[in-house]
Amino acid sequence: MKVLVINCGSSSVKYQLIDTDTDVSLAKGMVARIGMSGSVLTHKPHDRREVKVSAEILDHIVAIEYVVSILMSENHGVIKERSEIEAIGHRVVHGGEKFSDSVLITPDLLVDLRNLIDLAPLHNPHNIRGINACLKTLPGVPMVAVFDTAFHHKMPAHAYIYGLPYVMYKRYGIRRYGFHGTSHQYVSERAAEMLGKPLSELKLITCHLGNGASVAAIDGGVSIDTSMGFTPLEGLMMGTRSGDLDPAIILHVMAREELTLHEANTLLNKHSGLAGISGVSSDMREIIEAAKDNHANAKIALDAYCYRLRKYIAAYVGALGGLDALVYTAGIGENSPDVRECSCERLECLGIEIDKTKNNQAVGKQMDISTDGARVRTLVIPTNEELVIAHDTRRIVEAQ
Ligand code: ADP
Repeated sequence: MKVLVINCGSSSVKYQLIDTDTDVSLAKGMVARIGMSGSVLTHKPHDRREVKVSAEILDHIVAIEYVVSILMSENHGVIKERSEIEAIGHRVVHGGEKFSDSVLITPDLLVDLRNLIDLAPLHNPHNIRGINACLKTLPGVPMVAVFDTAFHHKMPAHAYIYGLPYVMYKRYGIRRYGFHGTSHQYVSERAAEMLGKPLSELKLITCHLGNGASVAAIDGGVSIDTSMGFTPLEGLMMGTRSGDLDPAIILHVMAREELTLHEANTLLNKHSGLAGISGVSSDMREIIEAAKDNHANAKIALDAYCYRLRKYIAAYVGALGGLDALVYTAGIGENSPDVRECSCERLECLGIEIDKTKNNQAVGKQMDISTDGARVRTLVIPTNEELVIAHDTRRIVEAQ
């Protein structure tokens, strides 16, 4: 079954067409700057070079039209007809408490998704926009919503509850939900394969370190805690997001700088984290380069990033009551020996020891980077969220 995987942001659509019979990604790409000047579609068929198409792309409907057209185009296409797209899998950020698994998209489900906008105003509206655009462009093709939160659905109450009046949870659903679920799930399954043991017998800590970043504690295949919370702002420091803060800081800064809610939101989500501390960039490669050139604030940003990650890893060993493997994934986790080395420092006491040579070799590929004698295996595993979405989509469509 050929599944089109769609991930819609406010001004972007990422896509991938995956043949789930062979797990080959036939083509992937992205439409950027939707509704702005300079919209561009970048498209890469699996067997040909990447192409860029500049066009006026005013909204998500036009964007999906462009995607479908290029998937069928003579020179850059990988299919001949629309009907070859047999199902569509949509990444939906927030599934709230209701969704513990992926679901078929129906008119009733769209109502549920709209009701969840309150929990994820920055993310879910764009996901819904993508679903509506596909309904227009590819009518009749079955569609499935795959939630970032679903994998964390079994988290126990002591891990998801915040120290606020309980009525806040009951009234507004304020609790930890967790995100990046498809990635944590994927790498935990690959880790079990690498270790040659059933996932049900393993205690794992998975670190998804991309532009957004989160850590999960996974016991027997179940996420029992994770660093992102009510929104994807909590936890690790990220490219432009603050991660954990004393909540009183927000009130203080809002009062001092007379910020509106919108401005405070932008400060925390767009101008903080690595970018905010370093003043250099939100991109880890540039932070590492600047830190190596002795840029003082880039060094602080890098050290703070790794230190916070190390604290989470150590805390989650406590949450799990032991550890079999620590897993690094996503852009930074897969590609940065520096961040892996720095975040594992001083964790020898917990059985985590990495081999420097292996660590330096593990760039963008699956590898065990632990020393031979380490009690805990440290693994680098490239993530593949799109493949999880494609498989889930097929499973749900075939079950109808
Ligand atoms: P997204 O969360 O947008 O999917 P990615 O998983 O692609 O992002 O991760 C992007 C991050 O990965 C950026 O901070 C980028 O600098 C970082 N990254 C990519 N390659 C390297 C590398 N070789 N060394 C350090 N960081 C890297």
